[in-house]
This record gives sequence, structure tokens and C-alpha cells, in this order.
Amino acid sequence: MRVHVADHPLIAHKLTYLRDRRTHTPTFRRLTDELVTLLAYEATREVRTAAFDIETPVGPTTGVHLASPKPLVVPILRAGLGMLDGMMRMVPTAEVGFLGMVRNEETLEAHTYANRLPQDLAQRQCYVLDPMLATGGTLAAAIHYLVDLGADDITAITLLSAPEGIEALREKVAGIEPPLRLVTGAVDERLNEQGYIVPGLGDAGDRLYGVV
Ligand code: URA
Repeated sequence: MRVHVADHPLIAHKLTYLRDRRTHTPTFRRLTDELVTLLAYEATREVRTAAFDIETPVGPTTGVHLASPKPLVVPILRAGLGMLDGMMRMVPTAEVGFLGMVRNEETLEAHTYANRLPQDLAQRQCYVLDPMLATGGTLAAAIHYLVDLGADDITAITLLSAPEGIEALREKVAGIEPPLRLVTGAVDERLNEQGYIVPGLGDAGDRLYGVV
């Protein structure tokens, strides 16, 4: 699994306001949206394209458009939903599938409670959205799920990641053949005993959806 940590002053600036406990839900949502758009630029660097011919007002040329089958964007419910609009703004012709996962707060194990995905993901590039890579359990389970359906290239996009989560994810996906990438806004210090990223931003789902 290749890991790309976005190193950009605009991302650092927006992440700082996202982390701040004084940032209220409407601003938190807007910042998440903006951050995803910036991360999507990096995450789609290897999106597949196909050549096609066009005419400009001056003459013929060959350009590219997204290849078929179209990329599949998979937000992990609930918090990943807050990243969907930002991603779709960058790849409006992508298709969207949903994966509902929740972690057991005692065992920190991920459990799948819903899925709305195409049943055959052969030749699909998938973009998995989950704001927080904490223990790595949820993302690992999602990646295995998509690979089992035939996905042949997967990029996970997170706003923040814990070093322990990245290592755990590496171990849990080590046997997977298709190329895997993680694009993240920052790697924080550590994970605490409750499985929260430190300094992190708290519970991303609660902050996105106003449950406190
Ligand atoms: N999920 C969150 O929303 N926040 C964390 O810090 C870890 C997991």
C-alpha cells in the first residue's frame, strides 16, 4: 500500500480550523468539503482515461476522458458521507456505492450493517471515503469487501490518519494483489485508549452531523 500525505499549506490551514473545537457544524462541513476537493486532486492522479478526438475552434486534436467502467466512489457511512460532495465535484461522472460500517466501541472491530454496491466491480477503480483512519479496522474491512467483489485498484481518502492505523491497515491488506493507495491530509501523533486520534478532531460523524 502506497501512502501519500498531502503536504500543502491550504490543507494544513483548513485542517487546523477543522480540528478546532470552536468550529461549529456548518463550517466543519464546508471545510470537509473543501479538503476533500483538494485531496481528490492527488487521489485521482492515476485515474484511468481513454483518448478521444475533438475539434477545437482552431482544429482537430486528441484529448482524454475518464475510461469505462467509470470510477466508483464509496463513502463509508456515516462520516464518509460528509466527503461525498467534495469528491463528486471533482469526478462528476463517477458512480457511487455505499458501505455502512460501524465500529464496536469496546472491541474496536468494524461491522458491516449496509451495502449498496454494484455486485461486480471487475476493472473498477474505487475511491473509498472515510475521514478518520484510526485503528484501520473499518478501512481494512471495506478494502477486503471491494476486492472480494472484483475491484482492481483502490484508493482510500482520509482527512486524518493515526500512525498505528496506517501500520495496522498495511498488515491487514498485505496479501491483497490490486494496487492500494492511501491519500491523507495529515498523519497525527497517536491513537488514545478509546481509539481516538490525538490531537485529531474528535468524532468526525458527530461534528459533521451536529450530534454532540
Ligand atoms: N473516528 C472519529 O470520528 N474520530 C477519531 O478520532 C477516531 C475515529
